Amino acid sequence: MSTVLVAGGAGYVGSHTVKALAEAAYDVVVYDNLRAGHREAVDRLVAAFPERRITFVQGDILDGTRVRETLETTGASAVLHFAALLSVVGSVHDPFAYYRNNVVGTMTVLEAMAAAGVKHFVFSSTCATFGEPRTPALDESHPQHPINAYGETKLAVERALPHLETATGIRSVALRYFNASGADPDGLIGEDHRPEEHLIPRAIAAARGGEGLAIFGDDYPTHDGTCVRDYVHVCDLAAAHVAALRRLEAGGPSGRFNLGSGTGMTVRQILDAVGRVVGRPVPHTIGPRRAGDPARLVASSGLAARELQWTPRFGLDAIVQTAWAWHTAHPDGYGGAKPVDS
Ligand code: UDP
Repeated sequence: MSTVLVAGGAGYVGSHTVKALAEAAYDVVVYDNLRAGHREAVDRLVAAFPERRITFVQGDILDGTRVRETLETTGASAVLHFAALLSVVGSVHDPFAYYRNNVVGTMTVLEAMAAAGVKHFVFSSTCATFGEPRTPALDESHPQHPINAYGETKLAVERALPHLETATGIRSVALRYFNASGADPDGLIGEDHRPEEHLIPRAIAAARGGEGLAIFGDDYPTHDGTCVRDYVHVCDLAAAHVAALRRLEAGGPSGRFNLGSGTGMTVRQILDAVGRVVGRPVPHTIGPRRAGDPARLVASSGLAARELQWTPRFGLDAIVQTAWAWHTAHPDGYGGAKPVDS
């Protein structure tokens, strides 16, 4: 079975994808600078899959020589690339860091792949490449006009990929996640962002008696006034990466796919769902809108169903239950002090 390099494999979606790859009998090289990723996540995966070769290389995607050497020495045949700065708010404050890491860093990885002769690339993209939706559900034909630097950096890479393919023969699949959420149902790995900005872990923390939760705006044109999002389980996203990799390995063409459940949930509906699982209401206040938040973002994932045979297996209850189980078992996440990063 082949070896794949997972850049950012110590992070949230990355680590769940490493697990899915190991289950699909791939050997994996995790390449991560550990600024936001967790060595502990990799160690747990190594221990859980003794029959697979999961190795860890601490390195930065901006270090092209190291990426190339790692590809060459491990004989990796594909790169799955998750290593990115991912905060919309952070990208507004420090766009330089976002362009450097997400655009220059990704180009560096692709250049190293070209030099090493690695021809398959799976890229973490985002629904933030679309900007303000013009239709109730977003399919792949929806125009892409990002409204923040984060979305722009991901779109810049998406737009570069066809040109790089012409020049180098690197085929790629870009996967545009909607709201990644939930945790490994086996309880091995989960979500640990510092700071945590996402709604479901924040709601769980509030329900556990931690920091209070503010709903960012209740005057949106939605049925209860709060923003509608499409929450998709991280293990379903991981499965889509394996499907994308197999498409490329089978000689399939490059593609871009929107990955969501197709179901919109308001912030209030999420708080209700968390309250049901936890057994008590989530304490919250109503705060001002957060800059850069569209009222509604819901995926239409028919293309992924047709071309990747991908449909989500986990619904909202499973998302909240697995997230709750993870945060209850690991109140300090992976533990230890880490440098704060976005
Ligand atoms: N949200 C909120 N309070 C919070 C965190 C998030 O009201 O403490 C809202 C946010 O405005 C958005 C939704 O919850 O409408 C999901 O936000 P999240 O940051 O989880 O994901 P995003 O949609 O930004 O990718």
